[in-house]
Amino acid sequence: MGEVKKFVFSFGAGRAEGSGAMKALLGGKGAGLAEMTNIGLPVPAGFTLTTEVCDLYYKNNKQYPPELKEQVAEHLARLEKTVGKVLGDSKDPLLVSVRSGAPVSMPGMMETILNLGLNDKSVEGLVQKTGDRRFALDAYRRFIMMYGATAKGVPHDELEETFNQVKEEKTRPRLGAAATKRILDSEVNADEFGVLIPRLKAIYKRHTGEEFPQDPQVQLWGAIAAVFDSWSAPKAVTYREVEKLTGIVGTAVSVVQMVFGNLAERSGTGVCFTRDPNHGDNVFYGDYLPNAQGEDVVAGIRTPMTLHDFEKADKAAYDQLVEVRRRLESHYRDMQDLEFTVEEGKLYMLQCRTGKRSPGAAFQIAVDMVKEGLISKAEAVLRIRDKDIEGLFYPVIDPSKKAEMKQAWLVQGIDAVPGAATGKVVFSAKQAELRAAAGDAVILVRRETSPEDVGGMHSAVGILTATGGKTSHAAVVARGWGKCCIVGCEMLEVDYEDKVFRVGTALVREGEEITLNGSTGDVYRGRLPLIQPEPSEAFNTLMAWADAFRSLEVRANVDTPYDAVKARTLGAQGVGLCRTEHMFFDSEDRILAIRKMIVAENAEERVVALNALLPLQREDFAGIFRAMAGLPVTIRLIDPPLHEFVPHDEVGQKALAKASGKTFEHIRTRIERLHEQNPMLGHRGCRLCITYPEILDMQVKAIIEAALICVREGLEVIPEIMHPLIIDRREFAFLEARTRLVADALIQESGLKLHYLVGAMIETPRAALLSGGIAEKAEFFSFGTNDLTQMTLGISRDDAGRFLPDYVDEHRAAVFRQDPFYTLDQEGVGKLIEMAIDQGRRARHDLEIGICGEHGGELESVKFCHRVGMNYVSCSPYRVPIARLAAGQASIPHH
Ligand code: ADP
Ligand code: MG
Ligand code: MG
Repeated sequence: MGEVKKFVFSFGAGRAEGSGAMKALLGGKGAGLAEMTNIGLPVPAGFTLTTEVCDLYYKNNKQYPPELKEQVAEHLARLEKTVGKVLGDSKDPLLVSVRSGAPVSMPGMMETILNLGLNDKSVEGLVQKTGDRRFALDAYRRFIMMYGATAKGVPHDELEETFNQVKEEKTRPRLGAAATKRILDSEVNADEFGVLIPRLKAIYKRHTGEEFPQDPQVQLWGAIAAVFDSWSAPKAVTYREVEKLTGIVGTAVSVVQMVFGNLAERSGTGVCFTRDPNHGDNVFYGDYLPNAQGEDVVAGIRTPMTLHDFEKADKAAYDQLVEVRRRLESHYRDMQDLEFTVEEGKLYMLQCRTGKRSPGAAFQIAVDMVKEGLISKAEAVLRIRDKDIEGLFYPVIDPSKKAEMKQAWLVQGIDAVPGAATGKVVFSAKQAELRAAAGDAVILVRRETSPEDVGGMHSAVGILTATGGKTSHAAVVARGWGKCCIVGCEMLEVDYEDKVFRVGTALVREGEEITLNGSTGDVYRGRLPLIQPEPSEAFNTLMAWADAFRSLEVRANVDTPYDAVKARTLGAQGVGLCRTEHMFFDSEDRILAIRKMIVAENAEERVVALNALLPLQREDFAGIFRAMAGLPVTIRLIDPPLHEFVPHDEVGQKALAKASGKTFEHIRTRIERLHEQNPMLGHRGCRLCITYPEILDMQVKAIIEAALICVREGLEVIPEIMHPLIIDRREFAFLEARTRLVADALIQESGLKLHYLVGAMIETPRAALLSGGIAEKAEFFSFGTNDLTQMTLGISRDDAGRFLPDYVDEHRAAVFRQDPFYTLDQEGVGKLIEMAIDQGRRARHDLEIGICGEHGGELESVKFCHRVGMNYVSCSPYRVPIARLAAGQASIPHH
């Protein structure tokens, strides 16, 4: 007989069965509670049901494993013993919260129910025990509302509406408050809650057909099911999709003894970060709400006080929190995000996790922690994510536009997530998604955001809310994405009915443009120009550390001298791919010159047309060589099928007829003849130069002449001439011979010294299979993984959108973990690459090997390139820092 599986782990009184290392099993929250308990921080006692239970629950048609009941009963008994109270007892009840918590943080996406254990009898016990009737009834009404809405699907709006009715009927007249004044929850008294509770129960009964459950066991199991069910709620599913969270089995459930932040004045609840999550400064950062419970802070219902004010209001409680901050940072050696409650002056920790931070803060914190001796340089490099680099180049409002800014200024809110955004105003998540899908940049304006809005928030370029603090739901979610966000803009009156918002007398309608500055909280009317900022000092420091670790070189894919300069400033160590054909699209003259070449009748005509192109190409190549002086520049000869260059409309064809001195009819039939059934597998790549070697001659001439010009200027030039779409060694040998013939003649004639390489692009499976033969003549290989992926999978990249998502979806075929055109398919395409490298290096031990597909700028793919022994990766200039980081991370052993 096998051992009984352990599904429940307890914590309390300084000891926990679990630990911080058990996130996958206990969820982030359960693991954090266990770890904090173990290191002696004040945590209320409780126990955690594992994520495995959730997994089994869904696998078995929402049935729990049979051992669960008994294990929960055992742990509840243990909890009751630790606390010295009994769940739902009529004299001195133990109350608990039932909390969700997945292995990866999903802020606000799943449910938590507070004050469980209250019923008509135990609520009186709580009154007796605390001497505070108002408090006890407030707790009970919250429990009925939360339990009803989350466990039983009672419409939350209806419960809220009833609460409002009681406020209007009873509280307002009692206070003699003006009709326009909002009545706060905290102004409702015990008698009024006494009126509210039976009404809430009646709603509960109407919707569920049952009385509100009085048995704490029924409540407990109802709440546990509610948490597990929230795992598959649409908002949680959307969040996991948007965040690309795959391979997590489910949520854990933590049952935790309640502590009360709503017990009179020296109580309260708060959320904080051990460092500033926006800028990364080593300052304590957070929100505190006195006399409040749970969600009050994060839901952004009231705007909370800062920690600074908290210190002034209750120094003794604040000092306990400062001590916890110190201990947790030195324990976890990373910035933490904390949730806490103060009950009558005593601090309790309710949650801790690694804090989400802005990209800028990620660099600042990592670099600071190295300087503080908390972490090593290797750890600092490993902590940066590709997303941090992407987000680092956040746009800002062009600071030279001071006057426009002043004129357009509308209002200021709280700067929740830095960066600037400009777009059209929308008032619902749904609209945001629709308009964004139609190609609009939109700014989502809400009174407050709720977890249901996450799809719309993701679609928006910026988020603006009227309520909430820096730790509100909107801020936390937006920060994770590096998305510009302003919250707590209290001057904002949002009118969902009329689809407008007002600030005093100013009015902005849906569809009008506004600009947000998330770094200052300022909101402007209209569209202000945005620019890219310079990278920070911390960024440069950290990238230098990454560079010191890595052996893989990073080059850039550039087509113009301008891009080459940019790439070099971002750290590129050469050009891995220059697509010569892109130069042809640059101007009318150029496109006309290449078109003449294409419609030429014979070799002589073609040479005339090519001669017109020669000086243009030479000039561009020289520009790139100058920008990359001293570094290698790989130039690929013409690649796309010729019909991509020719006009398919009558106007264009007539113009071409005129320019080339041919009839329109003639041009039209010539172009029709270029049509191919399968252009990607057609007359393209090196096949063009096999048919028309004049093209090769011209391009090689342009490259070598440009190089010689630069040599004369005293520059070091390292040209690498690359033939695309190679399938065979004989084919390559022919092209290589012709390339050298042209190049060597020019070099000899010049009397100068110039070393150049000739190599093959490996992007057909046949070339990969037969790479040894190709390497006999090729001095370098460059893997073109876009085509290689397409041809290895037999999946057209341009048509894959219709079905490839099903291949990635973990609930469907789950063939790939990620889109193979985004992250290299290491299993399949990767195998071909490894084989090709192995055979290639056997034939030529100093074969230079790189990659120039999109994958060269993707974190996981770059790490793969390092592992299989490539010399370099090449990617678009803005991805160069990501490739540098990935290469650095890949070189750090054991992580
Ligand atoms: P979320 O995952 O949405 O943050 P939590 O389970 O952390 O949900 O609960 C939200 C809030 O409810 C907590 O931040 C805390 O303020 C409050 N809360 C949860 N459990 C307790 C408890 N045992 N005692 C007091 N407050 C609690
Ligand atoms: Mg929480
Ligand atoms: Mg290709």
